[in-house]
Amino acid sequence: MGADWRALVRNVPDFPVPGIQFKDIAPVLADAGALAAVTGELTDAARAMSPDVVVAIEARGFILGSPLALALGVGFVPVRKPGKLPFTTRSVAYALEYGEAVLHMHTDALTPGARAVIVDDVLATGGTLAATAQLVREAGAIPVGALVALELGALGGRERLPDLPLTSLQGV
Ligand code: AMP
Repeated sequence: MGADWRALVRNVPDFPVPGIQFKDIAPVLADAGALAAVTGELTDAARAMSPDVVVAIEARGFILGSPLALALGVGFVPVRKPGKLPFTTRSVAYALEYGEAVLHMHTDALTPGARAVIVDDVLATGGTLAATAQLVREAGAIPVGALVALELGALGGRERLPDLPLTSLQGV
């Protein structure tokens, strides 16, 4: 049994704007046992989806998704905020729990038909995962599932993802 990573998630009220309860995973990442435990649980969940590739969302999704790709022996594709990816991209704009956002993916990042598992740290309204699934589909790949460490259940994000099997390790 690994360290109890769930107990290390820190709630930060009113960040980045008043009214938001921010779920900070930095203390989880900083603890070797907790980091191994959370990435191990995500890896087990991803393995069941038989993915060809991990697609992860800037920035905390990168931290959780990269060890998962290594453990599964598959590649890693970054989905990033505007102005970060150097090659040609496709993009999707969407509404966030706090504000608006746009996500980009390189146009050659995914092989058509590839089974992509999408990884992020937190599910809030579901807009980020929905936008990423759209990027995957527009690339001709298949979003076979999404994985998050934490799910803010009260925000109903899961309902915005009817076509994307979602696994969350912990409801908050
Ligand atoms: P959403 O698109 O509303 O599901 O928001 C999810 C994305 O925003 C993820 O990339 C999270 O890292 C971040 N996020 C949104 N709300 C929170 C929150 N309350 N605590 C931590 N991260 C959040």
